[in-house]
Amino acid sequence: MTREFIAELHDIGKLVDKNSLKSHSLSGHTFEDFDFSKHNITKPSSPSWWGQYHHKIVIHEDINSWKDIDCTYKPDVFLLIIADHLASSISRATPQLKNAGESEGVLKLWNYEFYKNEKNRGKYWAAFKSKEDLKKLFEIIDIVSSPEDFLSQYHKHLILTPEDKSKPRNITSLYTHIELVGKIYRVLKRHCEIKTENVLELKLNGEAVKKIKDAEGSNRTEGNQNIDKGKWQARFVKCYIKYPHSFVRLQDINLIVKRNKLAEGFVAKYKDYVMFHTFDFISLFLPIGKELKEMFKDFLDNGFFIEYIETIADLGILRSNLDIKIIRARKNNKSDIIKVLNSRNTRVYRKILLPEMLDKIVPPICDICQINPGKERMKENIKEWICDKCYEVRESGESFEYPDEWQENKIVWFKFNLNTEKLENWLQKAFEKYVDTLLKNINSEEINNKKKAELKEKLKNEFRSLACQSDFVTDYKNMIKAFWEKANGLAKKPISNYDELGVFLYSGENVKKILETFLEVYNDYFPDCEGDAQSPVSLSLSISNIKYPIREHFRYFENPKGFLDIRSHNVFENTYTKEEIKWLMDKLSETERDSSHFLHKLIGLYDGLNSEVNITVEILNNKDRYPAIYNSMYSKFATSPEKILNFSRIIEEKDEINKA
Ligand SMILES: [Zn+2]
Repeated sequence: MTREFIAELHDIGKLVDKNSLKSHSLSGHTFEDFDFSKHNITKPSSPSWWGQYHHKIVIHEDINSWKDIDCTYKPDVFLLIIADHLASSISRATPQLKNAGESEGVLKLWNYEFYKNEKNRGKYWAAFKSKEDLKKLFEIIDIVSSPEDFLSQYHKHLILTPEDKSKPRNITSLYTHIELVGKIYRVLKRHCEIKTENVLELKLNGEAVKKIKDAEGSNRTEGNQNIDKGKWQARFVKCYIKYPHSFVRLQDINLIVKRNKLAEGFVAKYKDYVMFHTFDFISLFLPIGKELKEMFKDFLDNGFFIEYIETIADLGILRSNLDIKIIRARKNNKSDIIKVLNSRNTRVYRKILLPEMLDKIVPPICDICQINPGKERMKENIKEWICDKCYEVRESGESFEYPDEWQENKIVWFKFNLNTEKLENWLQKAFEKYVDTLLKNINSEEINNKKKAELKEKLKNEFRSLACQSDFVTDYKNMIKAFWEKANGLAKKPISNYDELGVFLYSGENVKKILETFLEVYNDYFPDCEGDAQSPVSLSLSISNIKYPIREHFRYFENPKGFLDIRSHNVFENTYTKEEIKWLMDKLSETERDSSHFLHKLIGLYDGLNSEVNITVEILNNKDRYPAIYNSMYSKFATSPEKILNFSRIIEEKDEINKA
């Protein structure tokens, strides 16, 4: 059996607690200079061992003159180093924030206490703490059979350890970092041509190089145009999976089952190209020339379309959020940045991949996809025009049905959403806030204000959010899973292995419980993410009679506006922040005890006159008798009376809204 070079093992040294191994005088986190004979430990002999040299290499040095490394594995180390640069959260070239200190565990920007809480539960970042452990570490380098093997064996330590302990670089988990490095390394390896005759040379897309620096080029995106252009380019592509379908019957939501299955297949087939993914978004790292249309063929054949943003750049400047930087530079006419980027042949496209369509569509077209010709079909005396594909989807897989006891009642559909664009913006702001706090706490005698400001700018500009996004998405998936563990008896999952979608029988109590459960899990996973319109995570509730067309619920879910969106069909539509929900729930339950008839009077008044002014006057006139309602209006959130009333009638048990 030939053993493979497992790039994921390159940072295994970061799991060592050096403080408890003082007698071994370890420095750094790699073992290329470790004295094996002195400690009576066997030196690993697997290909993966050479990953330990990734900090030893000078990027300006010709691969042919690299010392100590077995020639067979030099190309692996070469590509590993490039992958390591691409996956880092902050470019290694950015000066370190001295005096900011180190942190033991990872710092999640959306959950500052994460590591502390895990530690209180008895967990600890380090996997190797004793001499025996150290022996084990070298064995691991020798015997681990696959990347997955290592990632799963050390998962509990890798998710607690930061990629880099020094602040502010401590914001991504080692797990995600090495996972990304491994993927990028294998993509490069797969598409790289390695020439070994006479001299060693690596070729990507026709461009041969012998130095890492020549492949990457400089990491400059501004300044003068004498840039050191890199020879190797690659792409980051953000893909949004969309569909034109409009669901006619409940069974048509099987399209989402189909989408999830296709996505699962895609991720399995292209796993190294996929950096991370949600249910409707895939982030890809691709070499030049890999055809998206080919990759997404199954989606397109099934009527889905793919909207994507593609960034092509020299490896030295390529990062997942370069598109945002470029679009911003274009918008603000930053000609110096644009010139440098142009001279490096940097490109950003927003494009769309559409399914094959017939040149001429002869009516009738399909009621569902509105792409293919529809065939007449009769069901329960209703005539429909549905194409073969949509009919197949409707008839395939599990089919969800409402329980009998729901008939003639109101129901609530709900959907969780993770907006990846908001996520990037939120992460950038959260990182900037973190850097500001760190710099504020650094003694200004050690670093003057001008330097501070420069450093701050540099760090903020250099933030690369890919790994953080991936960590955030993992937490989001865990959060909705945790939601269902708590809400299982409360609501139903129309698609059994899909956690974003749910439905339940309407009652004030049920809405309240669902919201409470949501806030509970949200606060567990995202306590430091505000829960407002900028929040990447949101929940939408759509309340209606059971006969209300299913397509309307889904249309409402397409563009969430706030943290919590609530629509009661034909009655109202509002958005609420996390603080508002919490406050209103607390206050209104207080109100219910002593002033519910007043609230009812207000609701009646509002329905009759539809005037906020009248309501406001009424509340003001009764502020002494019913302070809770008055206070919610004049609380720090300044919630409008309309929003208070709408919320209160939604969470009230026996409101008339209950009746269909
Ligand atoms: Zn169709």
